[in-house]
Amino acid sequence: MRVIVAGGGIVGLTTAIALHRAGIEAVVCEQAPEIRAAGAGLGIWANAMAVFDELGLGDRVRDIARPTEMYFRDPAGELIDPPGFSTDDHRYLLVRRPELTSLLARTVGGDDIRLGSRVVGYAEHDAGVAVRLGDGSTADADLLVGADGAYSAVRSQLVPGSEAIAHEGHHAWRSVVTPPEGVTVDRSVIVLGEHRTRGGYVPTGDGTVYWLINQFGSPALEGTPKEQARRRAGFLDSTGWNPVLPALVESTPDDSILHNQIMLVPPLARWVSNRVALVGDAAHALSPHITAGASLGVEDGLLLAQLLVRTGEVPAALAAYERDRVPRYAKVGELSKRVEDSATPEEFATNYVAFSHWMLTR
Ligand SMILES: Cc1cc2nc3c(=O)[nH]c(=O)nc-3n(C[C@H](O)[C@H](O)[C@H](O)COP(=O)(O)OP(=O)(O)OC[C@H]3O[C@@H](n4cnc5c(N)ncnc54)[C@H](O)[C@@H]3O)c2cc1C
Repeated sequence: MRVIVAGGGIVGLTTAIALHRAGIEAVVCEQAPEIRAAGAGLGIWANAMAVFDELGLGDRVRDIARPTEMYFRDPAGELIDPPGFSTDDHRYLLVRRPELTSLLARTVGGDDIRLGSRVVGYAEHDAGVAVRLGDGSTADADLLVGADGAYSAVRSQLVPGSEAIAHEGHHAWRSVVTPPEGVTVDRSVIVLGEHRTRGGYVPTGDGTVYWLINQFGSPALEGTPKEQARRRAGFLDSTGWNPVLPALVESTPDDSILHNQIMLVPPLARWVSNRVALVGDAAHALSPHITAGASLGVEDGLLLAQLLVRTGEVPAALAAYERDRVPRYAKVGELSKRVEDSATPEEFATNYVAFSHWMLTR
Protein backbone atom coordinates (compact mmCIF):
# COMPACT_ATOMS: atom_id res chain seq x y z
CA MET A 1 0.00 0.00 0.00
CA ARG A 2 1.31 3.47 -0.87
CA VAL A 3 0.17 6.64 0.88
CA ILE A 4 0.84 10.27 0.00
CA VAL A 5 0.66 12.64 2.95
CA ALA A 6 0.05 16.26 1.92
CA GLY A 7 1.79 18.50 4.46
CA GLY A 8 4.88 18.10 6.62
CA GLY A 9 3.70 19.76 9.83
CA ILE A 10 3.61 18.00 13.18
CA VAL A 11 0.57 15.93 12.26
CA GLY A 12 1.63 15.02 8.70
CA LEU A 13 5.07 13.89 9.87
CA THR A 14 3.62 11.90 12.78
CA THR A 15 1.14 10.27 10.40
CA ALA A 16 3.98 9.23 8.07
CA ILE A 17 5.89 7.74 11.02
CA ALA A 18 2.79 5.80 12.14
CA LEU A 19 2.29 4.48 8.59
CA HIS A 20 5.95 3.45 8.32
CA ARG A 21 5.76 1.67 11.69
CA ALA A 22 2.72 -0.19 10.36
CA GLY A 23 4.74 -1.35 7.35
CA ILE A 24 2.99 1.00 4.93
CA GLU A 25 4.88 2.99 2.32
CA ALA A 26 4.30 6.72 2.93
CA VAL A 27 5.74 9.84 1.32
CA VAL A 28 5.22 13.37 2.65
CA CYS A 29 4.73 16.15 0.06
CA GLU A 30 5.50 19.49 1.73
CA GLN A 31 4.92 22.69 -0.22
CA ALA A 32 7.65 24.66 1.58
CA PRO A 33 11.33 24.39 0.59
CA GLU A 34 12.08 23.09 4.09
CA ILE A 35 10.33 21.53 7.05
CA ARG A 36 9.18 24.55 9.03
CA ALA A 37 11.88 25.61 11.46
CA ALA A 38 9.91 28.60 12.79
CA GLY A 39 7.53 28.61 15.72
CA ALA A 40 7.53 29.20 19.42
CA GLY A 41 6.53 26.75 22.16
CA LEU A 42 4.08 23.88 22.07
CA GLY A 43 2.31 22.14 24.94
CA ILE A 44 2.23 18.38 24.47
CA TRP A 45 -0.38 16.61 26.60
CA ALA A 46 -0.33 13.00 27.81
CA ASN A 47 -2.66 11.81 25.02
CA ALA A 48 -0.03 12.91 22.48
CA MET A 49 2.76 11.36 24.54
CA ALA A 50 0.84 8.07 24.42
CA VAL A 51 0.96 8.36 20.61
CA PHE A 52 4.69 9.12 20.62
CA ASP A 53 5.30 6.22 23.05
CA GLU A 54 3.35 3.87 20.79
CA LEU A 55 5.56 5.00 17.89
CA GLY A 56 8.74 4.43 19.93
CA LEU A 57 9.50 8.17 20.04
CA GLY A 58 8.35 9.03 23.56
CA ASP A 59 11.77 9.19 25.21
CA ARG A 60 13.22 11.28 22.40
CA VAL A 61 10.36 13.75 22.78
CA ARG A 62 10.87 13.80 26.58
CA ASP A 63 14.56 14.56 26.00
CA ILE A 64 13.67 17.85 24.28
CA ALA A 65 10.73 18.74 26.54
CA ARG A 66 10.19 20.27 29.94
CA PRO A 67 7.46 18.97 32.28
CA THR A 68 5.16 21.74 33.41
CA GLU A 69 1.59 22.31 34.61
CA MET A 70 -1.33 24.35 33.27
CA TYR A 71 -2.73 26.23 36.30
CA PHE A 72 -4.27 29.65 35.85
CA ARG A 73 -4.10 32.79 37.98
CA ASP A 74 -6.57 35.65 38.20
CA PRO A 75 -5.43 39.19 37.26
CA ALA A 76 -4.36 39.79 40.89
CA GLY A 77 -2.05 36.76 40.72
CA GLU A 78 -4.15 34.42 42.88
CA LEU A 79 -3.78 30.79 41.82
CA ILE A 80 -7.05 29.10 40.80
CA ASP A 81 -7.16 25.38 41.53
CA PRO A 82 -10.61 24.06 40.67
CA PRO A 83 -11.67 21.25 43.03
CA GLY A 84 -12.34 17.71 41.80
CA PHE A 85 -9.38 17.29 39.44
CA SER A 86 -5.95 15.72 39.86
CA THR A 87 -2.45 17.04 39.08
CA ASP A 88 -2.45 14.77 36.02
CA ASP A 89 -5.23 16.90 34.49
CA HIS A 90 -2.91 19.95 34.58
CA ARG A 91 0.35 18.29 33.57
CA TYR A 92 1.91 18.66 30.10
CA LEU A 93 5.31 18.90 28.41
CA LEU A 94 6.58 22.06 26.77
CA VAL A 95 8.69 21.65 23.62
CA ARG A 96 10.11 24.14 21.19
CA ARG A 97 8.24 23.57 17.94
CA PRO A 98 11.29 23.58 15.65
CA GLU A 99 12.94 20.89 17.78
CA LEU A 100 9.87 18.68 17.64
CA THR A 101 9.39 19.05 13.88
CA SER A 102 13.12 18.38 13.28
CA LEU A 103 12.92 15.22 15.38
CA LEU A 104 9.83 14.04 13.51
CA ALA A 105 11.35 14.85 10.08
CA ARG A 106 14.55 12.95 10.93
CA THR A 107 12.43 9.98 11.96
CA VAL A 108 10.43 10.00 8.72
CA GLY A 109 13.73 10.21 6.80
CA GLY A 110 14.70 12.54 3.95
CA ASP A 111 14.00 9.92 1.27
CA ASP A 112 10.31 10.00 2.15
CA ILE A 113 9.89 13.78 2.28
CA ARG A 114 9.47 15.74 -0.96
CA LEU A 115 10.12 19.42 -0.26
CA GLY A 116 8.76 22.15 -2.54
CA SER A 117 5.98 19.76 -3.51
CA ARG A 118 2.54 21.30 -3.31
CA VAL A 119 -0.57 19.14 -3.58
CA VAL A 120 -3.10 21.04 -5.69
CA GLY A 121 -5.83 18.44 -6.17
CA TYR A 122 -6.64 14.83 -6.82
CA ALA A 123 -8.72 12.50 -8.96
CA GLU A 124 -10.13 9.49 -7.19
CA HIS A 125 -10.94 6.18 -8.86
CA ASP A 126 -11.95 2.72 -7.64
CA ALA A 127 -8.42 1.42 -7.17
CA GLY A 128 -6.70 4.53 -5.86
CA VAL A 129 -6.10 8.23 -6.19
CA ALA A 130 -4.03 10.31 -8.64
CA VAL A 131 -2.55 13.24 -6.71
CA ARG A 132 -1.92 16.41 -8.71
CA LEU A 133 1.18 18.39 -7.74
CA GLY A 134 2.03 22.04 -8.25
CA ASP A 135 4.67 21.31 -10.91
CA GLY A 136 2.00 19.75 -13.13
CA SER A 137 3.00 16.16 -12.40
CA THR A 138 0.76 13.44 -10.95
CA ALA A 139 1.60 10.80 -8.34
CA ASP A 140 -0.43 7.64 -7.83
CA ALA A 141 -1.33 6.29 -4.40
CA ASP A 142 -3.81 4.02 -2.66
CA LEU A 143 -4.61 6.79 -0.20
CA LEU A 144 -4.12 10.57 0.03
CA VAL A 145 -3.93 11.99 3.55
CA GLY A 146 -4.62 15.73 3.78
CA ALA A 147 -2.39 17.00 6.61
CA ASP A 148 -2.07 20.37 4.93
CA GLY A 149 -3.31 22.57 7.78
CA ALA A 150 -6.10 25.08 8.20
CA TYR A 151 -5.96 26.24 4.58
CA SER A 152 -6.00 22.65 3.28
CA ALA A 153 -6.21 22.22 -0.49
CA VAL A 154 -7.26 18.60 0.06
CA ARG A 155 -10.17 19.66 2.29
CA SER A 156 -11.36 22.30 -0.14
CA GLN A 157 -11.83 19.58 -2.78
CA LEU A 158 -13.18 16.93 -0.39
CA VAL A 159 -15.63 19.25 1.38
CA PRO A 160 -16.39 22.23 -0.88
CA GLY A 161 -17.30 25.40 1.01
CA SER A 162 -15.30 24.45 4.11
CA GLU A 163 -12.80 27.34 3.99
CA ALA A 164 -11.16 28.29 7.27
CA ILE A 165 -12.94 31.20 8.95
CA ALA A 166 -11.29 34.01 10.88
CA HIS A 167 -12.30 33.79 14.55
CA GLU A 168 -13.38 37.41 14.68
CA GLY A 169 -11.29 39.50 17.08
CA HIS A 170 -9.24 36.52 18.33
CA HIS A 171 -5.51 37.16 18.11
CA ALA A 172 -2.39 35.53 19.58
CA TRP A 173 1.13 36.84 20.12
CA ARG A 174 4.06 34.68 21.23
CA SER A 175 7.80 34.21 21.18
CA VAL A 176 10.67 32.31 22.77
CA VAL A 177 13.34 34.56 24.29
CA THR A 178 16.28 34.55 26.66
CA PRO A 179 15.14 36.58 29.70
CA PRO A 180 16.82 39.98 29.89
CA GLU A 181 19.39 40.62 32.61
CA GLY A 182 17.84 40.88 36.06
CA VAL A 183 14.71 38.87 35.12
CA THR A 184 14.50 35.40 36.63
CA VAL A 185 11.87 32.98 35.36
CA ASP A 186 11.77 29.85 37.49
CA ARG A 187 8.10 28.92 37.18
CA SER A 188 5.26 28.86 34.72
CA VAL A 189 2.65 31.64 35.10
CA ILE A 190 -0.53 31.81 33.02
CA VAL A 191 -3.08 34.52 33.85
CA LEU A 192 -6.74 34.94 32.91
CA GLY A 193 -6.88 38.68 32.66
CA GLU A 194 -9.23 41.53 31.93
CA HIS A 195 -10.81 42.22 28.53
CA ARG A 196 -10.85 38.47 27.74
CA THR A 197 -7.06 38.35 27.60
CA ARG A 198 -5.03 35.30 28.61
CA GLY A 199 -1.29 34.94 28.76
CA GLY A 200 1.92 34.35 30.61
CA TYR A 201 5.18 32.50 30.28
CA VAL A 202 6.67 29.03 30.61
CA PRO A 203 10.41 28.21 30.98
CA THR A 204 11.49 25.86 28.18
CA GLY A 205 14.27 24.18 30.18
CA ASP A 206 17.17 25.44 28.03
CA GLY A 207 17.41 28.90 29.59
CA THR A 208 14.84 30.45 27.26
CA VAL A 209 11.22 31.27 28.04
CA TYR A 210 8.07 30.86 25.93
CA TRP A 211 5.72 33.80 26.42
CA LEU A 212 2.23 33.93 24.95
CA ILE A 213 -0.73 36.28 25.00
CA ASN A 214 -4.10 35.88 23.37
CA GLN A 215 -7.29 37.91 23.39
CA PHE A 216 -10.85 37.15 22.39
CA GLY A 217 -12.94 40.00 21.00
CA SER A 218 -9.98 42.31 20.47
CA PRO A 219 -10.67 45.75 19.00
CA ALA A 220 -8.97 46.54 15.66
CA LEU A 221 -5.21 46.18 16.07
CA GLU A 222 -3.02 49.25 16.20
CA GLY A 223 0.76 49.65 16.26
CA THR A 224 3.54 47.10 15.99
CA PRO A 225 3.19 43.52 17.25
CA LYS A 226 5.22 44.52 20.32
CA GLU A 227 2.91 47.46 21.07
CA GLN A 228 -0.10 45.18 20.65
CA ALA A 229 1.36 42.56 23.00
CA ARG A 230 2.56 45.16 25.53
CA ARG A 231 -0.92 46.65 25.80
CA ARG A 232 -2.47 43.24 26.46
CA ALA A 233 0.23 42.27 28.95
CA GLY A 234 -1.16 45.17 30.99
CA PHE A 235 -4.57 43.47 31.13
CA LEU A 236 -2.95 40.48 32.87
CA ASP A 237 -1.76 42.31 35.95
CA SER A 238 -4.25 44.39 37.94
CA THR A 239 -1.99 45.07 40.95
CA GLY A 240 1.60 45.18 39.69
CA TRP A 241 2.41 41.69 41.05
CA ASN A 242 3.96 40.40 37.83
CA PRO A 243 6.56 42.56 36.06
CA VAL A 244 8.07 39.52 34.28
CA LEU A 245 5.70 39.29 31.30
CA PRO A 246 6.10 42.95 30.25
CA ALA A 247 9.88 42.57 30.61
CA LEU A 248 9.89 39.51 28.34
CA VAL A 249 7.71 41.26 25.74
CA GLU A 250 9.94 44.36 25.92
CA SER A 251 13.10 42.32 25.35
CA THR A 252 11.70 40.57 22.25
CA PRO A 253 12.58 42.13 18.88
CA ASP A 254 9.44 43.03 16.93
CA ASP A 255 10.29 40.65 14.10
CA SER A 256 10.60 37.73 16.56
CA ILE A 257 7.02 38.13 17.77
CA LEU A 258 4.66 35.70 16.04
CA HIS A 259 1.23 37.22 15.63
CA ASN A 260 -1.73 35.17 14.40
CA GLN A 261 -5.29 36.05 13.53
CA ILE A 262 -6.85 32.82 14.77
CA MET A 263 -8.48 30.74 12.03
CA LEU A 264 -11.01 27.97 12.61
CA VAL A 265 -12.16 25.13 10.38
CA PRO A 266 -15.96 24.77 10.61
CA PRO A 267 -17.18 21.37 11.88
CA LEU A 268 -17.10 18.99 8.89
CA ALA A 269 -19.82 16.49 8.11
CA ARG A 270 -17.24 14.28 6.41
CA TRP A 271 -13.53 13.72 6.95
CA VAL A 272 -13.01 11.04 4.29
CA SER A 273 -14.00 9.66 0.92
CA ASN A 274 -13.01 6.18 -0.25
CA ARG A 275 -9.42 7.20 -0.95
CA VAL A 276 -8.85 10.51 0.84
CA ALA A 277 -8.72 11.35 4.56
CA LEU A 278 -8.07 14.51 6.56
CA VAL A 279 -5.93 14.68 9.71
CA GLY A 280 -4.82 17.45 12.07
CA ASP A 281 -5.66 21.10 11.46
CA ALA A 282 -6.84 20.28 7.92
CA ALA A 283 -9.79 18.55 9.59
CA HIS A 284 -10.15 20.51 12.81
CA ALA A 285 -8.10 23.71 13.24
CA LEU A 286 -9.10 24.58 16.79
CA SER A 287 -8.92 27.74 18.82
CA PRO A 288 -5.55 27.77 20.64
CA HIS A 289 -7.20 28.77 23.93
CA ILE A 290 -7.37 25.02 24.61
CA THR A 291 -3.69 24.60 23.57
CA ALA A 292 -4.32 21.11 22.26
CA GLY A 293 -4.72 21.15 18.46
CA ALA A 294 -1.44 19.36 17.82
CA SER A 295 -1.87 17.00 20.79
CA LEU A 296 -5.24 15.91 19.46
CA GLY A 297 -4.06 15.93 15.83
CA VAL A 298 -1.29 13.36 16.31
CA GLU A 299 -3.95 10.93 17.55
CA ASP A 300 -5.52 11.08 14.07
CA GLY A 301 -2.41 9.76 12.29
CA LEU A 302 -1.88 6.84 14.64
CA LEU A 303 -5.54 5.83 14.54
CA LEU A 304 -5.57 5.94 10.75
CA ALA A 305 -2.48 3.69 10.51
CA GLN A 306 -3.95 1.24 13.03
CA LEU A 307 -7.25 1.02 11.15
CA LEU A 308 -5.48 0.45 7.83
CA VAL A 309 -3.66 -2.49 9.40
CA ARG A 310 -6.78 -3.82 11.14
CA THR A 311 -9.07 -3.70 8.10
CA GLY A 312 -6.40 -4.28 5.41
CA GLU A 313 -8.55 -2.19 3.12
CA VAL A 314 -8.58 1.56 2.49
CA PRO A 315 -12.32 2.47 2.19
CA ALA A 316 -13.29 0.39 5.25
CA ALA A 317 -10.44 1.87 7.31
CA LEU A 318 -11.43 5.41 6.32
CA ALA A 319 -15.08 4.84 7.17
CA ALA A 320 -14.09 3.51 10.62
CA TYR A 321 -11.72 6.47 11.07
CA GLU A 322 -14.50 8.96 10.36
CA ARG A 323 -16.93 7.14 12.69
CA ASP A 324 -14.41 7.56 15.50
CA ARG A 325 -13.23 11.13 14.82
CA VAL A 326 -16.41 13.08 14.03
CA PRO A 327 -18.09 12.53 17.44
CA ARG A 328 -14.79 13.04 19.28
CA TYR A 329 -14.33 16.44 17.68
CA ALA A 330 -17.97 17.39 18.19
CA LYS A 331 -17.24 16.95 21.91
CA VAL A 332 -13.96 18.90 21.64
CA GLY A 333 -15.90 21.73 19.98
CA GLU A 334 -18.54 21.73 22.73
CA LEU A 335 -15.99 21.74 25.60
CA SER A 336 -13.81 24.34 23.86
CA LYS A 337 -16.79 26.67 23.41
CA ARG A 338 -17.69 26.28 27.08
CA VAL A 339 -14.17 27.44 28.01
CA GLU A 340 -14.35 30.37 25.59
CA ASP A 341 -17.73 31.52 26.91
CA SER A 342 -16.64 31.46 30.58
CA ALA A 343 -17.68 34.62 32.40
CA THR A 344 -15.00 34.65 35.13
CA PRO A 345 -11.40 33.40 35.55
CA GLU A 346 -12.68 30.73 37.97
CA GLU A 347 -15.22 29.48 35.44
CA PHE A 348 -12.60 29.48 32.66
CA ALA A 349 -10.12 27.51 34.82
CA THR A 350 -12.80 24.97 35.77
CA ASN A 351 -14.04 24.52 32.20
CA TYR A 352 -10.47 24.26 30.96
CA VAL A 353 -9.50 21.48 33.35
CA ALA A 354 -12.79 19.73 32.58
CA PHE A 355 -11.66 19.73 28.93
CA SER A 356 -8.14 18.47 29.67
CA HIS A 357 -9.52 15.77 31.99
CA TRP A 358 -11.88 14.61 29.23
CA MET A 359 -9.12 14.67 26.59
CA LEU A 360 -6.69 12.75 28.77
CA THR A 361 -9.12 10.10 29.97
CA ARG A 362 -10.87 9.29 26.69
C1 LIG B 1 -1.13 30.54 18.98
C2 LIG B 1 -1.26 29.05 18.92
C3 LIG B 1 -0.83 28.27 20.00
C4 LIG B 1 -0.98 26.87 19.96
N1 LIG B 1 -0.54 26.12 21.03
C5 LIG B 1 -0.70 24.78 21.01
C6 LIG B 1 -0.22 23.98 22.11
O1 LIG B 1 0.36 24.50 23.07
N2 LIG B 1 -0.44 22.64 22.06
C7 LIG B 1 -1.06 22.04 21.00
O2 LIG B 1 -1.24 20.81 21.03
N3 LIG B 1 -1.50 22.77 19.94
C8 LIG B 1 -1.33 24.11 19.92
N4 LIG B 1 -1.74 24.85 18.85
C9 LIG B 1 -2.35 24.16 17.70
C10 LIG B 1 -1.26 23.59 16.81
O3 LIG B 1 -0.33 24.60 16.47
C11 LIG B 1 -1.85 22.99 15.54
O4 LIG B 1 -2.97 22.21 15.85
C12 LIG B 1 -0.82 22.11 14.82
O5 LIG B 1 0.37 22.80 14.57
C13 LIG B 1 -1.42 21.57 13.54
O6 LIG B 1 -0.46 20.78 12.88
P1 LIG B 1 -0.75 20.26 11.40
O7 LIG B 1 0.44 19.44 11.04
O8 LIG B 1 -2.10 19.65 11.32
O9 LIG B 1 -0.84 21.58 10.51
P2 LIG B 1 0.27 22.66 10.17
O10 LIG B 1 1.22 22.86 11.29
O11 LIG B 1 -0.46 23.85 9.67
O12 LIG B 1 1.10 22.01 8.98
C14 LIG B 1 0.58 21.93 7.67
C15 LIG B 1 1.75 21.74 6.72
O13 LIG B 1 1.22 21.51 5.41
C16 LIG B 1 1.93 22.30 4.48
N5 LIG B 1 1.00 22.52 3.37
C17 LIG B 1 -0.08 23.35 3.34
N6 LIG B 1 -0.73 23.22 2.17
C18 LIG B 1 -0.07 22.28 1.45
C19 LIG B 1 -0.28 21.70 0.18
N7 LIG B 1 -1.34 22.05 -0.57
N8 LIG B 1 0.60 20.77 -0.27
C20 LIG B 1 1.67 20.39 0.50
N9 LIG B 1 1.92 20.93 1.71
C21 LIG B 1 1.05 21.84 2.19
C22 LIG B 1 2.32 23.55 5.25
O14 LIG B 1 3.42 24.20 4.65
C23 LIG B 1 2.65 22.97 6.62
O15 LIG B 1 4.00 22.56 6.71
C24 LIG B 1 -1.58 26.24 18.85
C25 LIG B 1 -2.02 27.02 17.77
C26 LIG B 1 -1.84 28.40 17.79
C27 LIG B 1 -2.31 29.21 16.60
